Amino acid sequence: MEVVLAEYLGFCYGVKRAIKIARENASTGEKKAATLGPIIHNPQMVARLQDDGVGAINSLDEMENGTVIIRSHGVGPDIYEEAKARDLTLVDATCPHVRRAQLAAKALVDEGYNVVIVGEKNHPEVKSIFEWTNDTATIVESVEEAEKVEKCAKLGIVSQTTFSGENFKKIVMALLDKSQELKIERTICTATLERQKAAVELAQKVDLMLVIGGKNSANTTRLYQLCKEKCQTYHIETAEELSDQWFDKIKKIGITAGASTPDWIIKEVYVKCQKK
Ligand code: SF4
Repeated sequence: MEVVLAEYLGFCYGVKRAIKIARENASTGEKKAATLGPIIHNPQMVARLQDDGVGAINSLDEMENGTVIIRSHGVGPDIYEEAKARDLTLVDATCPHVRRAQLAAKALVDEGYNVVIVGEKNHPEVKSIFEWTNDTATIVESVEEAEKVEKCAKLGIVSQTTFSGENFKKIVMALLDKSQELKIERTICTATLERQKAAVELAQKVDLMLVIGGKNSANTTRLYQLCKEKCQTYHIETAEELSDQWFDKIKKIGITAGASTPDWIIKEVYVKCQKK
C-alpha cells in the first residue's frame, strides 16, 4: 500500500517544548512533580510521562509540596498567585503563542475594549485567555453567536491559537458592525494552519485519510473535519483501531496527526498501513 505523510503533522513547537520542560522537572526522590491538567490532549503521552515521573493533577488542592508544571494551554493569573501562596514551585510551560494571546486579551481590557475571544468555550486555552480578561470576555464560537454580541464603543478580538483561520474571518466579518472602534489581534498559530493546509492538500490526492490524535484533541478533530470534506477519513488514537474493512479498494492512504500526537504513534500507524 502506498502511504503518504502530510508535509506538516504531529507535535508542534509548543507541545515539544512543554514535554521537554516537564521531563526536565520530573519527580526526584521525595520531590513530586505534576502538570496541572494533562500535559496534552493525548492519553498515551500522558501515560508515558507518568512513567517518567511527571503525574497530572486537576487542582492545586491535590499538591501539598513539589513542582507544578503549567502546560502549553496556559492558566489564568489566579493560579500563579495560588501556587505562590501555597509555596509550590511553579514551572511555566505555557506556549509562547498562547501567552501572546493571553497578554493581548489583558491589554485590550486594560485599554477599555470589550473583548471577544473567538474559540471553543470548553477548551482549556480559551478558559485561560478568558481568565486574563478578569472573566469579562465574551467567548464566540460561531457566526450565529457573533451576531448576538451587543454593540459597544470599543470592541477587541483575540483568537484561540488553534482556531480555523477561515472561521475566524467569518466571525470577524459578523462582528464588524458591532463597534465604531475595532481592534483585532490575530493570535492564530501558524502550526495549526500549516497542519490544516497540508492535511487538506494531501486529502485531495489520496483515497483515504487517517487522522491520528486524541479524541479529546480539538485541533485533531478539526483536521478530521477538514479531511472528511475531501475523501473517506477516519480519526484514530492508535494503530490498534485500524480496521481491515477500511482498506478495500484503497490504493493510496494519507496520514496526518494533531499537534499533540507523539511521533511513535504516527510511526506505528505508518508501518501498519504499509503492510495492508
Ligand atoms: S498549536 Fe501553536 S499555540 Fe498551540 S501549543 Fe502548538 S505552537 Fe503553541
